[in-house]
Amino acid sequence: MNLTLHLTDNCNMDCSYCIREKCPKDMTEEVLFKACDLAFSRGQRAGLCFFGGEPLLKKDLIYKALDYCEEKSAKTGIRFDCKMTTNGSLLEEKFLERAKKANLGIGLSFDGKAQDICRIFAGGKPTSSVVEEKAKLLLSYMPDSTALATIAPQAVPYYFESVKYLHDLGFRKVSFVLAYGKKVNWTDEDLVALREQLEKTSAYLKELFLNKERFFMSAFNAKIRDCISGKNPAERCHLGVRQMPVTPEGNLYPCTSFIGDDDYLLGNVFDGINEAKVIEIAKKAATPETCVNCDLVKRCTNSCGCSNRMNTGDENKVSPLQCTYERMLIEISDALGEELYQIDRDRFIKYYA
Ligand code: SF4
Ligand code: SF4
Repeated sequence: MNLTLHLTDNCNMDCSYCIREKCPKDMTEEVLFKACDLAFSRGQRAGLCFFGGEPLLKKDLIYKALDYCEEKSAKTGIRFDCKMTTNGSLLEEKFLERAKKANLGIGLSFDGKAQDICRIFAGGKPTSSVVEEKAKLLLSYMPDSTALATIAPQAVPYYFESVKYLHDLGFRKVSFVLAYGKKVNWTDEDLVALREQLEKTSAYLKELFLNKERFFMSAFNAKIRDCISGKNPAERCHLGVRQMPVTPEGNLYPCTSFIGDDDYLLGNVFDGINEAKVIEIAKKAATPETCVNCDLVKRCTNSCGCSNRMNTGDENKVSPLQCTYERMLIEISDALGEELYQIDRDRFIKYYA
């Protein structure tokens, strides 16, 4: 099974949209090893995602988990996959060598040209020059790494420039998501500006396609792929079924925005998973009432309980922001997909299906 390990609640950055409460709470080795055992206890695959706060503040735990899980995998024959999301500021060669050996997939949180607008070090210093150097280092070890940008309203004017900047830096996979939660405030003007940026980005993706460059941008690629395959993105999100966060104390929840809510506690790494609770919570997930009759219901991520909860306080209620964003993204992605299909059908299927 897949577990997201919150190795620490601490971080050396102080991003303006961060939803985590920072405190010096670290996972103990006892919790770490129990969590690894739990990941190996079900099915023929064990998956760990190292997360925080900033997981590289606890590199020692990552080394221990990798050694432990690789040994366990060799003994049991169960496949072990691992990944990490990091702000990148503490990446260094020794860690990257070990990470490469373990085939650790690294997602670098990096807002591109908008980095210093929201992502600053605790204490207030800018982070862009440090993270740019670390991004180059990361790509020299793992060229397949993903840049993860979070777009707050004030970063919207930099959206397209950031896509291009990250591409020029060497990333071939980028993920751009909107910043949600109580700390951000989206206006109608921001969404108009966002649409312009998505259109510019779409034109840039077409240019790359014409140049035969393969570039994965999750927002667009996912919409186009789902359109080709006829898959419903709603089927991907099953609260607490496919991926569970583990807190530094060892508690298990359905997803990160539920952490700390006793009504959603699914168990802990010592006593195991409360199966009845998992079923109860999975049953609660439903297509939001406002979406049932929408033509786009099968193309939309309206059922992401975690982002719904962050935006509206209810996992089954979609915010107007999410709805507007989904509509514009689907429209612009579909137009791009249609154009690329006309340009080169075979290559389009190869790149996007
Ligand atoms: S790097 Fe991540 S955990 Fe740290 S402050 Fe920024 S968003 Fe929060
Ligand atoms: S576009 Fe809006 S109404 Fe339609 S399914 Fe998505 S969130 Fe629901």
